[in-house]
Amino acid sequence: MSTSNVEKHEFQAEIKQLLDIVIHSLYTDKEIFIRELISNASDASEKLRHTKLTEKDVFESDRELEILVTADEEANSITIQDFGIGMTRDELVKNLGTIAHSGSKQFLNALKEGGSKNDNLIGQFGVGFYSAFMVAEKVSVYSRSWKQDEQGHCWTSDGTGSYEIEETADLNRGTKIVISLKEEEKDFAKKDNLKTIIERYSSFVQFPITLGEDKINKIDALWLRSKSEIKDEEYTEFYKFQANAFDEPRYRLHFSADAPLAINALLFTPNENPEKVGFGRIDPGVSLYCRKVMIDSKPKELLPEWLRFLKGVVDSEDLPLNISRETMQDSALIQKLGRVITKRYLKFLGEEAKKRNEKYQEFFSKFGFFIKEGVAIDMTYRDDLAKLLYFESSTTEKGKMTSLTDYVSRMKEDQKEIYYILGQNRESIESGPYLEGFKSRGIEVLFLYEPIDEYVMGNLNAFDEKTLVSADQGDIKLDDAPKPEVEGALDEKTSEAFCTWLKETIGDRVKEVKSSDRLTDSPAMALSPDAMSSQMRRMMRSMGQDSMPVEVLYEINPAHPLMINLNAQRESNPEIAKLVALQGFDSALMTAGLLEDPKDMLARMNQILEQTATK
Ligand code: ADP
Ligand code: MG
Repeated sequence: MSTSNVEKHEFQAEIKQLLDIVIHSLYTDKEIFIRELISNASDASEKLRHTKLTEKDVFESDRELEILVTADEEANSITIQDFGIGMTRDELVKNLGTIAHSGSKQFLNALKEGGSKNDNLIGQFGVGFYSAFMVAEKVSVYSRSWKQDEQGHCWTSDGTGSYEIEETADLNRGTKIVISLKEEEKDFAKKDNLKTIIERYSSFVQFPITLGEDKINKIDALWLRSKSEIKDEEYTEFYKFQANAFDEPRYRLHFSADAPLAINALLFTPNENPEKVGFGRIDPGVSLYCRKVMIDSKPKELLPEWLRFLKGVVDSEDLPLNISRETMQDSALIQKLGRVITKRYLKFLGEEAKKRNEKYQEFFSKFGFFIKEGVAIDMTYRDDLAKLLYFESSTTEKGKMTSLTDYVSRMKEDQKEIYYILGQNRESIESGPYLEGFKSRGIEVLFLYEPIDEYVMGNLNAFDEKTLVSADQGDIKLDDAPKPEVEGALDEKTSEAFCTWLKETIGDRVKEVKSSDRLTDSPAMALSPDAMSSQMRRMMRSMGQDSMPVEVLYEINPAHPLMINLNAQRESNPEIAKLVALQGFDSALMTAGLLEDPKDMLARMNQILEQTATK
């Protein structure tokens, strides 16, 4: 073979960074590289099986799909060979030299976000092919594509900064990876060790794995077996294998159906929500099979997007075996299948919420975001999903949540609406002015802490025919509550004159000033005239736009000492009274999240300090 054929390439910068981390990590479970390479071999075989359904002209078409592993103690090396789709020269460059594929990209993102807490990341996350460099001095990848008129190549690297590619004759279809082990990793070349590791990680691979002469795995489609025969450990192992996961599943749902479609499904809800710990948006994780043959490992069209956290397998006999990813997109059958599974899973969650509420609330605090996303954007399942929403409220303990159904069951006879308040946390809501009027009347209010909650409520609009209403809305009519007698409280007439003065003093920034029947402890509050504008405002601000001026209603508490004194001061000390009036208004705006620019407020603060200090 001529050396002119050898091409040297630099790894892409991100890959260099990744390799550096992988090679220097002190990660103890180095054996996971076996799992990663075997799962790549299995993926490649799966892809070939699929390619053969649509392509007539496949190189070495009759070759059996199996995975061969050999260990050579003398040479201190391991070889893993598959007869899958293989890679062309361009594919070798792209797949092994750039960050085009998902797993490693997510790993790097997580690294960036997590900073130094990342010692464990390799463990939580296969870094795929590159994990081989944890144990290898040199990795050689011999690969021959399934395409007839391609050549075979050998890709080699020591993982430091570059790799070489060379044309290589007489290769079988597929990929053979030779790992030359580092001296200190030579235990991996012992056949017994290797066998134990493969058994641990690869018992669910759908292709026969042979180590030397020994067949290792029994090919087993767990999801087709009857529930009563399957042990918990088998389920968990399958989950770890299928989801590439290291945790234990939080929920599992194994079911079959005959109508309207023949379905066998095994769904896992993971323990952790990867999007919460910085892994970015995840791909769908429920694979689609037809009679044990994988059709798509990450089908985008099967389940709604908000179910992307689910892992597992759906197998349906009713799918045509040669369905391609392209035709899946507009297949009514896939959509029907997806609907059946989604409904079933939501029913399952509903049952869990009833039977094991505490466990469900734990689930919801980790995965509730997906449920909320569904309520906000997916009309098809909105009503089912709304029943699964949980929030803290003024009647729950801190950290405990309630469903909307339970809220409704506690509603007072004459209460027609469901109230909620959006705030940073429980403390800030409880100390703010908006809760007061509800509390004094014994009306429950839901506490919402996440920005998405407002869209959820806005889009849901009503639950069980009761309108959802934000407690900082101006047009809420609550019953008369008994007013406590406070000494010096402004009577109706005085308070009316005082409000007129306030309106004149504040000017155009306020639409209306009136005496409140909702306040007990706070001096005043700012309200938006309707829910729409408060939602629009926050939305515009979150998109980085200046929100349009809102019309603010200002309600004051005529029994609050601040207002009583201010009223007295507007004659005795008009200059200070004016400053205090404006300052009070700005404070209320701030509490409401309506204060656009605190500059004036700060300047005014200094004025007040100056004036009071000289007196
Ligand atoms: P992932 O499997 O998450 O895509 P890997 O780092 O494990 O990431 O592999 C990178 C890519 O290299 C794969 O997506 C695939 O395209 C290619 N690849 C790896 N191993 C093989 C193989 N045995 N046969 C064919 N292609 C492979
Ligand atoms: Mg992989």
